[in-house]
This record gives sequence, structure tokens and C-alpha cells, in this order.
Amino acid sequence: MSDHPSPLSAVIAEDDDAATTGIPSAARRAQPPPPPVEVTEALLHALPKTDLHCHLDGSLRIGTILELAEQDKVDLPAGDPEGLSRAIHMGQVCESLEDYLSAFDITLSVLQTEAGLFQAAHELALDAAAENVRYLEVRYSPALHVQRGLKLTAVIEAVLEGLREAKRETRIKAGVIICGIRNQDPQTSLRLAELAVAYKNKGVKGFDLAGAEYNFPAKDHKAAFQLILNNNVNCTCHAGEAYGPESIAQALHYNGAHRIGHGTRLREDGDLLNYVNDHRIPLEVCLSSNVQTRAVRDIASHPLKFYFDYGLRVTVNTDNRLITDTTVTKELWLAHRHLGLSLEDICTVLVSGFKSAFLPSRERADLLEVVNREISEVVARFHQVEPLSAARTA
Ligand SMILES: [Zn+2]
Repeated sequence: MSDHPSPLSAVIAEDDDAATTGIPSAARRAQPPPPPVEVTEALLHALPKTDLHCHLDGSLRIGTILELAEQDKVDLPAGDPEGLSRAIHMGQVCESLEDYLSAFDITLSVLQTEAGLFQAAHELALDAAAENVRYLEVRYSPALHVQRGLKLTAVIEAVLEGLREAKRETRIKAGVIICGIRNQDPQTSLRLAELAVAYKNKGVKGFDLAGAEYNFPAKDHKAAFQLILNNNVNCTCHAGEAYGPESIAQALHYNGAHRIGHGTRLREDGDLLNYVNDHRIPLEVCLSSNVQTRAVRDIASHPLKFYFDYGLRVTVNTDNRLITDTTVTKELWLAHRHLGLSLEDICTVLVSGFKSAFLPSRERADLLEVVNREISEVVARFHQVEPLSAARTA
């Protein structure tokens, strides 16, 4: 690693920074290469990160489920953290995506009140901020939170307020992605798309389609996505996780997805892979979750490194912090240990996360400028040398 280039130079080397970020060229000027630095979990923890694919109902604190169940008189399969962790397959490999999704029945049972939704969103953003996630997109389907009579608007407001509270406390930027559900009536997806349009510019950053992929094609929900696109709302779509590349093609060509959730099986179709690369369509990769749902056998066989080396815009995300028992820091560490991503690779992935944020271009560029500086500062700190000259002017 003696001739290892600066992480910042990796960022600059990416093909289309000027076009997609609008970063002024002065801010993108190459920095002198620092000496090599060892990748450690402490370093990964300190680096500024995004989490663009994170489900609210899969990312509660275990203690909060127990606390809310007691408050709301909800029966759980276990009354202690250990038993509850087992019941939700926390960090365990599941039989299938459907088996994995069954854990959400438990978490959803305590997310049926405004107070519960506020607390879950607030704590999730605090937990993300604590590992230096600077930008978080929290996704969930409001239609799954009306079992006790809450209005959809109340479900949205409670989560947005939880995120706003976390921002006041930690300055983390956070927004919401509203999910339609594949295995629900497409009319429900359309109602949720209307909600996403109504809350555009009020904290909702985009729309998604989640749920069981096999047997529930994305094109069935085309009307919802058409409404989203007609209203210039950003959208992503879970695809290529439990089904093949045809599912990704549908997400892109029928539903107009701007990003792909997972895309694990994209490697099976080289032509589509090139299309995704050529159009700089970001992949929201979630390594541990893919092992847990058996989308891949183990981390080492995940295509993340192949996608990265090929030039695709890849981001690393948690999917479900509780159910998968993970953090972005942990996912990056796994990418380093099992897939051989270097510090330079990881910094490029981090920057790709910020580039892929569902934010207005100018806001994204401002954020990227700060983040590029911070990456240099953090790496310099781990070298125990003076920060780069550009960082001193911050
Ligand atoms: Zn997901």
C-alpha cells in the first residue's frame, strides 16, 4: 500500500463528479497522498457515512420493543431481550426472504401509535448519528401502521417529528422514503404514492416498493410509480434480491426507478449491468441482509466488489439495523475483511452514498464538499499527522 493514493483522489477520479455534484473545481483539486493507513473499525466508525436503505420497522432498539409492548399492552413472543432477539431471527440466517419478513409482524405490533413511531424514528436517527452517519433515509410503509386506527397523515407526521428532533440534537440530516408493498393491492401502493407526493418537500424524499419479490412483479405497481414520476418525486425499488435481473429491468423500465434496492442478482445479466453502469444508477447494497435472506451464500460471494471494480455506483447500507444486527460501520468492515475493499475503495463508496442521496443537486453538492473535507481530516487524524491544508481552511 506504499503507493496508495489519497482517498480524496479516488473520489475525484470518479467519472462524473462535476456533472452530478456541481462541486467547484477548486474544491476538487487533488491533495498530496498521505502515508498508508490501516483500515480499522475505529476508522470506519469515524468516517462520515450515509445510510440510504434502512427500514424503520427493522431498526428499532430491542429494549424499545419491550418498552412499547408494555405501554400499549401488546403480546410479544418473548418478554426478555434474548428471547425476543431469537424470535426476530436477529442476525441469523433465515429460510427465505418471506421467513425474514415474518419478523416484521413483531416489530410492527408496537409501531401502531404516534408515540411509538416518534420514538422509533428518533432513536434510529440518534443511533445512526452516533456512528457518524451524516445523511439517513428511513423507509417504511405507513399502511402497515394503521392497525389501531391511526390516520396515514399521523403516521407520517410522527416519524418526521422524530427525525426532526434527532436533527436538533445531533445535526444528522434525515428524510423519509415511503414504501409501497409488492404483496399488497396495487391500489394501496397508489394511495401511498399520493401521500409521498403530498409530503414532497416536507421531509419525504422518495418512494419505494418493498415486500416479497417472488410472484409479486414491480410492474403491477406501475400506476403508483407513474404518479410519483409525474410529480417529479425520486424513487427506488427493491429488486434483484429474491428474484433475477428481470425484476431489476422492470423496476427500471416500467417503474422508472432512480436507484435499485439491492440489485444482488444484476450480475446475471451483463447487458443490464452495463445499462445500470452507463446510467449511473446507484445500487443500495446491504451485505449482511443478503446473507440473512439467502440472496447470497456468504459475504465473500457477494458481487459488491465486482460491481465496484466494474465501475458501478455502489452504496453500502444496513437494511435492518435490529433484525440484521448491523450498522453501516459493521457493513463497511465486512466489505473490507471479506471482499478486500481498500480504504480508497471505501472512501469512494462513502462518497457514492452522498452522491446518491435523494436531495436537490445544490444541497448534495454542499454536503459533498463538507464530507470530502471531513474524510481527509479523519484519514489524516488516523495517520496522526496534520490535516491536509484544504481542511485547515474549513
Ligand atoms: Zn430493504
